[in-house]
Amino acid sequence: MTLHNLTILGATGTIGVNTLDVVARHPDRFKVIALTGQNQIDKLAEQCRQFRPKYAVVLDAERAGQLQEALAGLAIEVLYGVEALEMVASLHEVDSVMAAIVGAAGMRPALAAARAGKRVLLANKETLVMAGQFFMDAVAAGRATLLPIDSEHNAVFQSMPEPYDGDMAAHGVRRILLTASGGPFRTRAVETLAAVTPEEAVAHPNWVMGRKISVDSATMMNKGLEVIEAHWLFNAAPEQIDVVVHPQSIIHSMVEYQDGSVLAQLSNPDMRIPIAHALAYPERVETGVHWLDLAKLGQLTFEAPDTRRFPCLQLAYDALKAGGSSAAVLNAANEVAVAAFLDHRIPYLAIPETLAKVLDRLGGRQAASLDDLEAIDAEARSLAEQLLVTK
Ligand code: NAD
Ligand code: MG
Repeated sequence: MTLHNLTILGATGTIGVNTLDVVARHPDRFKVIALTGQNQIDKLAEQCRQFRPKYAVVLDAERAGQLQEALAGLAIEVLYGVEALEMVASLHEVDSVMAAIVGAAGMRPALAAARAGKRVLLANKETLVMAGQFFMDAVAAGRATLLPIDSEHNAVFQSMPEPYDGDMAAHGVRRILLTASGGPFRTRAVETLAAVTPEEAVAHPNWVMGRKISVDSATMMNKGLEVIEAHWLFNAAPEQIDVVVHPQSIIHSMVEYQDGSVLAQLSNPDMRIPIAHALAYPERVETGVHWLDLAKLGQLTFEAPDTRRFPCLQLAYDALKAGGSSAAVLNAANEVAVAAFLDHRIPYLAIPETLAKVLDRLGGRQAASLDDLEAIDAEARSLAEQLLVTK
């Protein structure tokens, strides 16, 4: 079997670690060429010792020095900065790029991988939310293959007809049904939401994830971002994407066809499954995840999302319908508000309030270029910061 060469962007994060877990189970299939991380130098060094990549990339010179020291004697080139991230995402010898940096910081390297025609395993949903059109254009121009890692979109991908060319009507697809766990506050008394702490918000009932996406799951902004992500990935209009709350997180999403059939993908909630699906695609490999025992589970339940409890979900639909850079504005404001909440600078309910205000003031702008988009992103961040300070 020829080895499949990988770059893993965001190797030290939850998705990165799960990716390396799958890779370690299949040394005959996958070889790591580059690993990147932001500031967990010890963890990155340990990963480098285990997987022996050619390149390791961090964000700045100081951390590069620390990593270099930790890797003394090994033939691993240590680089730093955004350009180095773009370089390892587009190396000629690399086949697949796992894009698992969190937030807008993941956009430039994901775009580089798309332009270079890689197989892009996209976990970083913020890239599509911010720059959906630019990213999809780069995928087409680079003839890249795009495989979704987000469990819902991976489930939709698996439930879609193959090959799917973005034409729902031609394939008899009526609707995409994204499932949502409802997060830790699905049943908590609404009057008590004002007192939610960061620790409570990051304690997800079914998934272990990074802190930012965990808060997004608590507010259901994560599902909102996923609606926008589904729009770009599958060329689906906002009214063709519905959300259904399914607290057990066993059905990861569904596709409804014109004849009334609904196809779904089920599994235990473990990110190694979508990761392995995309890594081995179109083949299948073992992941070490427990087999699904439906009789033991007993029940799968469903309910409609409560938009009063979760205003962020509606804000995402609004941003998608408003078009232009509205989704980028929403994403930028959300990153600022979530970071402030995690720092105990603002209360939980200030997250949706801030987003609504920033979207109201800056939504609807058009970005003709990536530079425009980054300027809008910066403006939305600074307005969000100002609104937080005046709280
Ligand atoms: P995480 O916080 O655990 O890891 C983030 C990774 O990005 C780390 O390796 C970190 O070093 C790196 N990073 C952070 N800021 C950076 C910057 N400015 N420049 C370069 N690197 C930087 O996050 P995660 O949970 O692994 O999520 C990663 C992405 O995958 C997110 O976009 C998230 O929405 C998406 N995702 C995650 C899950 C999940 O189960 N964790 C599921 C679906 C989608
Ligand atoms: Mg998801």
